[in-house]
Amino acid sequence: MKLQTITAALLAALSLVSCAVSVTEDEKHSETVFAMDTVMELTAYGHNAEKALAEAKAEALRLDALLTRGGSGSEIYTLNKNGSAQVSEETAALVRSALDISTATDGAFDITIAPIMDLWGFFTKDFRVPSDEELQAALASVDYKNVGVNENTVTLSGNSQLDLGGIAKGYLSGKIIDIFRENGVTSAIVSLGGNVHCLGKKTDGSLWRIAVQHPDGEGFIGTLSASDTAVITSGGYQRYFEQDGQIYHHIIDPKTGISAHSGLKSVTIITPDSTRADGLSTAVYVMGPENAADLWRGDRSFDMVLMTDDNKVYITEGIKNSFTSELELNIIE
Ligand code: AMP
Ligand code: MG
Repeated sequence: MKLQTITAALLAALSLVSCAVSVTEDEKHSETVFAMDTVMELTAYGHNAEKALAEAKAEALRLDALLTRGGSGSEIYTLNKNGSAQVSEETAALVRSALDISTATDGAFDITIAPIMDLWGFFTKDFRVPSDEELQAALASVDYKNVGVNENTVTLSGNSQLDLGGIAKGYLSGKIIDIFRENGVTSAIVSLGGNVHCLGKKTDGSLWRIAVQHPDGEGFIGTLSASDTAVITSGGYQRYFEQDGQIYHHIIDPKTGISAHSGLKSVTIITPDSTRADGLSTAVYVMGPENAADLWRGDRSFDMVLMTDDNKVYITEGIKNSFTSELELNIIE
């Protein structure tokens, strides 16, 4: 073979190799896992994705078992049963994060909501409307100030019981993204029942486009272009039951023990700290639009998309160039 021909053949072989590598870099891998009563879709790209996804799936199951109030293997179950427990550092830290959100939101977020969730049947899915007496009795033990955390010991006074349902999925998506990173994955997106968390950008270098569901059914409120962030939505439409023409949903106002009706149908919080995003989305849903805007103005470390009961959309100014919608957008400044 002539030198030229050899060089051409080599070049062709090399380009084939580099082509193969770039295909592997972009290759899409997906997993579905059912955990925390939620269908979770995990997608990661590149040659480390398969291993990362397997670890992520195991992590979802591990945290479900650790944080559920249902299973006897769970730390929260033991804590609720005994009123005090030595828990893992991880659980203690998560409870601390939850309490910080309670303080920041003046108790709109409150993980001692457990007995109220039970009364309405959200825990067993045996739904019913409780009497006022039942609600008042249960409300007596709803107060995040009853929760003490001293190093890894969590103590519940006043018969309080914990329910981490308003924050656990946010915590989990953060842990999944950490696992992806540790495995060298640079492009991934997960949706834990509508709680979205993206890592890096799409493999073509463009931003992820994350749609926020319209609470009335089909379609979207709008779409966010983003990278490396959590986009977490709370809405009464996500879990509810109907009785005598009345809708009762799963986001409870800790002051009344009844589904929150603060004037909001949907709340999306955008920040890389997914644990906080999750807690805040629940809290803001309880607080209503005016208090939410005040909370944001005093902090500005997150962004939000709100839809009011009369279908008006409000977004904070940090996302005014990255959130697009066919609806009129009102900017919170
Ligand atoms: P999310 O879907 O993140 O808004 O969380 C709703 C879940 O959080 C419910 O299913 C309950 O487990 C729990 N929850 C309901 N109301 C509250 C509240 N006011 N504060 C904290 N957790 C709550
Ligand atoms: Mg939440």
